[in-house]
Amino acid sequence: MIDSYGRKIDYLRISITDRCNLRCLYCMPEDGVESVGHEEILRYDEILRLTDIFSQLGIKKIKITGGEPLVRKGAVSLIKDLKQVPGISKVTLTTNGMLLEQSIQELYEAGIDGINLSLDTLNRDVFYKITRRDSFEQVMKGLEAAIGYKEIPLKINCVPMGMEGQNPLELAELARKYPVHVRYIEMMPIGFGKKFAGCTEEELLKELQKKYGECRLFSGTLGNGPGHYYEFSGFQGKIGFISAMTHKFCSSCNRIRLTSNGYLKTCLQYDVGVDLKKLLRNGSSKEVLLQAVETAIKEKPSAHQFTEALEDHAEQHIMSQIGG
Ligand code: SAM
Ligand code: SF4
Repeated sequence: MIDSYGRKIDYLRISITDRCNLRCLYCMPEDGVESVGHEEILRYDEILRLTDIFSQLGIKKIKITGGEPLVRKGAVSLIKDLKQVPGISKVTLTTNGMLLEQSIQELYEAGIDGINLSLDTLNRDVFYKITRRDSFEQVMKGLEAAIGYKEIPLKINCVPMGMEGQNPLELAELARKYPVHVRYIEMMPIGFGKKFAGCTEEELLKELQKKYGECRLFSGTLGNGPGHYYEFSGFQGKIGFISAMTHKFCSSCNRIRLTSNGYLKTCLQYDVGVDLKKLLRNGSSKEVLLQAVETAIKEKPSAHQFTEALEDHAEQHIMSQIGG
């Protein structure tokens, strides 16, 4: 579907849980958030019913997210079922890797089209500081397992926090050694992200070039999103940047988000959208649901205003509740 600003909306992020087995400093409070009750979370049959409607309105690619999506029972079966919905061409997953080692074979069999693994450091102690969990080895095993499945495209996502000891540059080594793309995501001032300065693309790129020599901007596209990529000589994978702050990409934004409690969000920064769970559960017909989604997409804001203070409709949820 084309929105009011001429953007083609074909990508949906579905958060299937607000729970997580890590507590990343920029995403969640130490004690976690009060979880939404089970009955408030969309059931898988409801997600599938909505996906059919989204697909009729032009959604082709889906990313499963959370909280940590793999903590929800049956997540891989849902992925398999979503792949069968007519019109859906790609279903991918973003995960913190904690349960990847044990899930990768099943994900492969389900036909997963790609995995994004969030990993902010290769240092065990720093991992503990960032995630508040001593689970570095477990995530490394997940990473190794995923690298072993050459058929599944793998991207590593790192959020440079501007925190002492993090050293985001060391992640780039993975793209040199393995056929995986490493992407740096600029910290967004949402929820706990507001507490961190982050690093800009320019700063990191300069450091990367100092270490690895000149690079070339990759002219093609990779995946569904707003990332742009550079090629370094001798690297098997590319280095990407998702720079919502310094390279605002709202004019080509193709995405909408379904939260785990069934709210359709049309922009990361605003709370605007529609409560689809309410409509689903009050027995609304397919036509009513189609109309509601169409109207919400038409009203998708033109752009985020991260650098300005928003007075109305600013998103009050934290990132683990939205799904990134
Ligand atoms: N638990 C999964 C994971 O970590 O990949 C999925 C959910 S997580 C909210 C999705 C992505 O959002 C992660 O890559 C995370 O690093 C990123 N994220 C969380 N808070 C952020 C912030 N304030 N700015 C930029 N990215 C953020
Ligand atoms: Fe959990 Fe992902 Fe948020 Fe970290 S970024 S706390 S892994 S939801």
